[in-house]
Amino acid sequence: MSRQVVKRVVIAGGGTAGWTAAAALAQQLGPLLDITLVESDDIGTVGVGESTIPTFRTFQVLLGLDEREVMRATQATFKLGIGFENWGRLGHRYFHAFGDIGKSTWMGDFHNMWLMAKARGFGGELGDYCLEHKAAEAGRFATSDKSRINYAFHLDSGLYSRFLRQKFEPKGVRRIEGRIERVEQDGESGYVTALVLQNGTRIEGDLFVDCTGFRGLLIEQTLGAGYDDWRHWLPTDSALAVQTESSGPLLPYTRAIARTAGWQWRIPLQHRVGNGIVFCSAHQTEDEARAELLSNLESKPLFEPRLIRYVSGRRRKAWDKNVVALGLASGFLEPLESTSIHLIQIGVMRLMQLFPFEGNFEALAIRFNEQSHLELECIRDFLVLHYKLTEREDAPFWRECGAMAIPDSLAERIDLFRESGYTFREPYDLFVVASWLFVMVGQGLMPRHHHYMGALLGDERLRRALESLSSKIEQAVGRLPAHEDFLKDYCPAVDV
Ligand SMILES: Cc1cc2nc3c(=O)[nH]c(=O)nc-3n(C[C@H](O)[C@H](O)[C@H](O)COP(=O)(O)OP(=O)(O)OC[C@H]3O[C@@H](n4cnc5c(N)ncnc54)[C@H](O)[C@@H]3O)c2cc1C
Repeated sequence: MSRQVVKRVVIAGGGTAGWTAAAALAQQLGPLLDITLVESDDIGTVGVGESTIPTFRTFQVLLGLDEREVMRATQATFKLGIGFENWGRLGHRYFHAFGDIGKSTWMGDFHNMWLMAKARGFGGELGDYCLEHKAAEAGRFATSDKSRINYAFHLDSGLYSRFLRQKFEPKGVRRIEGRIERVEQDGESGYVTALVLQNGTRIEGDLFVDCTGFRGLLIEQTLGAGYDDWRHWLPTDSALAVQTESSGPLLPYTRAIARTAGWQWRIPLQHRVGNGIVFCSAHQTEDEARAELLSNLESKPLFEPRLIRYVSGRRRKAWDKNVVALGLASGFLEPLESTSIHLIQIGVMRLMQLFPFEGNFEALAIRFNEQSHLELECIRDFLVLHYKLTEREDAPFWRECGAMAIPDSLAERIDLFRESGYTFREPYDLFVVASWLFVMVGQGLMPRHHHYMGALLGDERLRRALESLSSKIEQAVGRLPAHEDFLKDYCPAVDV
């Protein structure tokens, strides 16, 4: 392949990953490439993946899309974070909000002030110093050009793929419908040369993007890139997904409610609610999980729950030879913090930065894989944290989670925080310091010691500073409209 110019990009799969890749490549590198996407209506998509994180918005800008238009087309609502119920203890609740907590300085993060105040008997809750946290609790939301509120969306993933198709087929993405039956490779190099469809159509390419979902048709079934199984750290391996009729007020956050052997999600959209239960098959049968899900729905299901099996982990090489895997084909970390769509987006951005226009692919692939690995390990640690810090003793699943061995990187982080109150963001860490704090403190990990920056103020000034901060946030929240009212104004959904 040396010195060969890469022009023909073939994307296998038309789920969120396939259409995201097609859209980004067309928008950013369109004039340099021929882009073909193959998808099979018979096979369909995984049909879940409706909760996003704030980076999703930045990516829509990169695609040249208008936020309101995206939201209208996908029946979207706003998301300020995730409400966790029953995770630390049964009946206990905490919130992971997308915003900053208080005001930090070069010397240390704000929570040190709060910890000092707590030690002196005042200071309230950590969430009192986060606008997004308080707004979510109050069910309020607004955004504008001047707004500093940090948010993401809940959206209908099927509608999102359809929307991307409508926008980007006219911008040069050639779509072919059909089932890929065979993958042809160069006899010498093993590079993929063409996809052959059931009807005999042969699609040749220079670079192939595998977006075929869990099956990994090119990256695994053809190239055998290998998979790191992380179920010993992330023990859930199954999900039952179901949609229900709308009910109650539209909450501006995702709910993640811990159950007997996993957790249940609730994602409010404008036209319906996305629900499901994630569970560990070693601790709960499919029938038991279905019964637990159905008995905890808040409105009428629109169809029978659908089973999805998965293995949390990562593809050893997401880029192998001339195949780059994105989405579920590249690995999957269970959906607790809604990170998968972000990983598709960052993956396609990285591919564009490292695009192998000519020359040898190998060095670029090594760099791509290294970066992806570091990023996934940070997310993995953040997810494991939620399970490890449980104090629940009521079910064998939770007792095992509390007792499990965890990655050294996470063990060191937990020990450091427990001892000193110090936490940090690694260079490849998706999650900011506030996120780590929300989960650690939310699940009851209170540090033994902390930085004394708060003592420099003296008790009285510290008290006044904290009161002033939290009351400004209260006032700002009081000025926000109800989430539902704002939605009706800002981006009422179009009929589907
Ligand atoms: C239970 C669960 C909950 C989730 N929740 C979230 C969430 O809240 N937030 C989030 O960010 N992510 C979430 N995810 C992940 C998210 O669903 C995926 O990252 C996203 O949908 C992308 O999927 P995909 O495009 O990789 O695969 P798929 O949607 O499976 O698409 C695969 C595509 O490949 C095509 N295909 C496959 N084989 C062939 C063939 N032989 N010939 C032709 N075409 C073929 C299919 O037709 C389809 O178009 C969740 C995942 C699970 C399992």
